[in-house]
Amino acid sequence: MSMNSQGRPTNISGADIRSSNSAVPDTVTGNRGLQIEEPLIFEQDSPGRCGVDLPEVPAMAMRLGTVKPRARVGLPGLAEPQVVRHYTRLSQKNYAIDSGLYPLGSCTMKHNPRLNEKMARLPGFSDVHPLQPESTVQGALELMAELGRWLATLTGMAAVTLAPAAGAHGEMCGIMAIRAAHDAKGETGRTKILVPESAHGTNPATAAACGYTVEAIPGTEDGRVDLEALKAKLGPDVAGLMLTNPNTCGLFERDIITIAEAVHAAGAYFYCDGANFNAIVGRVRPADLGIDVMHINLHKTFSTPHGGGGPGSGPVVFAESLAPYVPVPYVVQEADGRFRLVEHAGEGPAFGRMKAFHGQMGMFVRALSYMMSHGADGLWQVASDAVLNANYLLASLQDVMTPSFDGPCMHECLFDDRFLKGTGVTTLDIAKALIDEGFHPMTMYFPLVVHGALLIEPTETESKAGLDQFITALRALAERAKSGDVEYFQAAPHLTPRRRLDETAAARKPILRWTPEREEAVAAE
Ligand SMILES: *Cc1c(COP(=O)(O)O)cnc(C)c1O
Repeated sequence: MSMNSQGRPTNISGADIRSSNSAVPDTVTGNRGLQIEEPLIFEQDSPGRCGVDLPEVPAMAMRLGTVKPRARVGLPGLAEPQVVRHYTRLSQKNYAIDSGLYPLGSCTMKHNPRLNEKMARLPGFSDVHPLQPESTVQGALELMAELGRWLATLTGMAAVTLAPAAGAHGEMCGIMAIRAAHDAKGETGRTKILVPESAHGTNPATAAACGYTVEAIPGTEDGRVDLEALKAKLGPDVAGLMLTNPNTCGLFERDIITIAEAVHAAGAYFYCDGANFNAIVGRVRPADLGIDVMHINLHKTFSTPHGGGGPGSGPVVFAESLAPYVPVPYVVQEADGRFRLVEHAGEGPAFGRMKAFHGQMGMFVRALSYMMSHGADGLWQVASDAVLNANYLLASLQDVMTPSFDGPCMHECLFDDRFLKGTGVTTLDIAKALIDEGFHPMTMYFPLVVHGALLIEPTETESKAGLDQFITALRALAERAKSGDVEYFQAAPHLTPRRRLDETAAARKPILRWTPEREEAVAAE
């Protein structure tokens, strides 16, 4: 089989990407049903072919002096339909929340109401420029102020920044505020941030990026933070605790108020990773739990698109304790009712700004649209239904799979791989087989505190009928694994255009660049 310079088969039919499963017939073209195999767009190049009919270029003198082109510039020659089909097919290779259930635990992949999109596309929002005079964007500033008011009210917090561009960026903002607060008090000996073992990877990464040493706090048998272990680590060298609530095992940290008191008694601050706010929005105000600072993923809790679907947005809310450290810019309303953007930190203790301009305007519009269309009671219902759906899955699967912890869960349910013990089938195999059944897999092997984790978050936007179908598929797979059909699982997915990939190599050594043939390489130099 011939390979191109990227190690990709050039002749698709006859290549090893074809089905090795006798149940799925090979085709002459390599296409499967209406899933089309095609070469890279550069490999479709036909020199001289063009999508438009341009007049002959008139003879003219070269204006590059002694520099002469030696070869083509390396853009493929293509007709318009080729380009349109190529990109349409690529778009169809994406799995999306608009295609079906996307039960990635911790990610809150839920339906984005189209009303949000309609609002975000209003020209008054989508066409504003961040450098426009304030007097011309009063409506946009008012929207930001109103979104901030909703976030402050829902969390019970004193101050808000909308600037951070994602959850991880919000974490960084919060930890920078904690550092600024300790610095202002002259407490420079606080070098550690405590992070539970079940935390999202961004938590220790943030603490380390901000120059702190990370100390892991073990969990208990029931999936919560070990309070005694936490207390033992608290001391004058601890700057803060980063805790997720509900945590990444899908459980509410019952001791959270005691935890907050212990952290404060040690002179440290309590950072809450609020990415899972979806589970408690409208029902619990984080400020009442003693949290000093928390980020919110608008692109999770408030439905704005994320993943491949759009930029994120990670506003941060601050309790009174850290409110003086809110970064710029933020919106204030003057006595005459006009809105003003505070762009400079002045002499205050705050650390400055997190990013250029004001944050992700399109996400602000979508989030506020979501909040206002749900209302306070609707947001309460969101959290209730998210938790109900996750518990429905947990209850419907617990006799064939192994829940990691006893009792009900919050917005996501966690299983480990004990139900696969002795079968030869792994968590990864189950996930691959689930793709054949038409479902995006759940989050796998995270959190790290249980073996072979399968973390499922259905979100509140899935119907009972949709969940029942998912349950039927997972139950059947669990039973098939236990019946000893290990070959089936090891060969899954059977029906996708590509089968098992070398995922480690794909993640670590992705080939993102098409290397032209020698002749064109010279021209590019
Ligand atoms: C998603 C998530 C994050 C990070 O948010 P990004 O917007 O992806 O940066 C942090 N913590 C938890 C628990 C999350 O689920």
